[in-house]
Amino acid sequence: MSTGVLFDEDLMRRYDREGPRYTSYPTAVQFHEALGPDAYTQAATSSPGALAGAPLSLYVHIPFCQSPCFYCGCNKIITRQMDQADAYLSRLTKEIALRGRHFDRARKVEQLHFGGGTPTFLPMDRLATVIGTIDRHFNLVRDDERDYSIEIDPRTVDPAGVRTLAQLGFNRLSLGVQDYDPLVQRAINRFQPAETVTRLLQAAREHGFGSLNFDLIYGLPRQTPETFAATLEKVIAQRPDRLAVYGYAHMPQMFKAQRKIVPAELPDAATRLALLKMAIDTLTGAGYVYIGMDHFALPDDTLARAYANGSMHRSFQGYTTHASRDLVSLGVSAIGQVGRLYIQNHKTMSLYSAALDQDRLPLHRGVVMSDEDLLRRDVIQQIMCRNSVDRESTGRRFGIDFDIHFAAELARLEALRADGLVECAGRRIELTPRGRLLMRNVAMLFDAYKNAGAGTPRLSRVI
Ligand code: SF4
Repeated sequence: MSTGVLFDEDLMRRYDREGPRYTSYPTAVQFHEALGPDAYTQAATSSPGALAGAPLSLYVHIPFCQSPCFYCGCNKIITRQMDQADAYLSRLTKEIALRGRHFDRARKVEQLHFGGGTPTFLPMDRLATVIGTIDRHFNLVRDDERDYSIEIDPRTVDPAGVRTLAQLGFNRLSLGVQDYDPLVQRAINRFQPAETVTRLLQAAREHGFGSLNFDLIYGLPRQTPETFAATLEKVIAQRPDRLAVYGYAHMPQMFKAQRKIVPAELPDAATRLALLKMAIDTLTGAGYVYIGMDHFALPDDTLARAYANGSMHRSFQGYTTHASRDLVSLGVSAIGQVGRLYIQNHKTMSLYSAALDQDRLPLHRGVVMSDEDLLRRDVIQQIMCRNSVDRESTGRRFGIDFDIHFAAELARLEALRADGLVECAGRRIELTPRGRLLMRNVAMLFDAYKNAGAGTPRLSRVI
């Protein structure tokens, strides 16, 4: 598979528009509250994964953070009060037990992810308790096939904590780095010297963690090409296995914390583009492979290998080496998928708590995928994970004539072909090195809801 990318400034400007990240299809915009009361039970007992006893994925949401990062658009609660967290954990414990009743205990948990918020807001003894509870109701394993990851705020964990995380069974870490420049860190209210991260990385490598991931952000206040170059230099010296480089989306009308960001300090559109180009050039020049939207990995990392052999997938946890599994979601606002059902928990703590206090699962909204959704989801996955769509095999697997079924989409694709984003050769639609940086634009063509005008201003921009 081609791993090259080509940064075409003119195309990037012209195609910069809002679009979904396609961690699911249909996207969360299509979720609704009109699901029947038994929808979850039905899905959990009759999904192909349940019938086959297939492995599970688990996601656990810990919504607390000690202080607000001003760029943040996550669903989180800023507090230093541990009693708030303890009240949450007692409900989470109940949810784990209620949720566990829907799944065969023999199904191995192959993938586990703790996200937030800041999962490491919790002291290690509390984290150990949560893991112990999950272990009682689900089949946690210790084999090398497991993919157990946790998001780390480097300000909340020390090397001893990293050792404890390894003892709890985690084998992958994701660190929020964002930017190393002190002035940028001050502007976003997130102070963390590179040395702190280096110490954690050393501890993680000593304790056998593989696939260490960094998140970086471009487009932050006070970022300049010079400061960002210095950040990238430090990052490359630290050599994480994977990197996600996101563009900052300034939406202060939606995210209160962002109102603390001074608009005049934000880089202009030309500088944003220059920062993105710098990140792509610097990381690929340092040996990282561009594996897909915003993501890079070292060639020997499992994700880069999965990308190379065409087995990479995309889910709510972003790019993954695991094929589509039933995803059991736990915690406030968490989103899961069971069979054809996407389902999200209540987004507010009060509704989440009220449901569990009445011994009910805190289910809020979701959507059941139709046959057409499954087909389009497959096409979008091919674009996001493999840079190409195999018209012939897709048609065969779904029992359609691809060119007839997608006649309107193929007609619209012609403009992207003329602009050099895709090539239509033989049975395949291939993204070009130019088009790979704009894969969301190609995917959007096959999004029936987007094409029907079901949009939202909440989506991030392509660049
Ligand atoms: S960026 Fe992460 S640590 Fe910062 S406020 Fe948001 S969720 Fe919390």
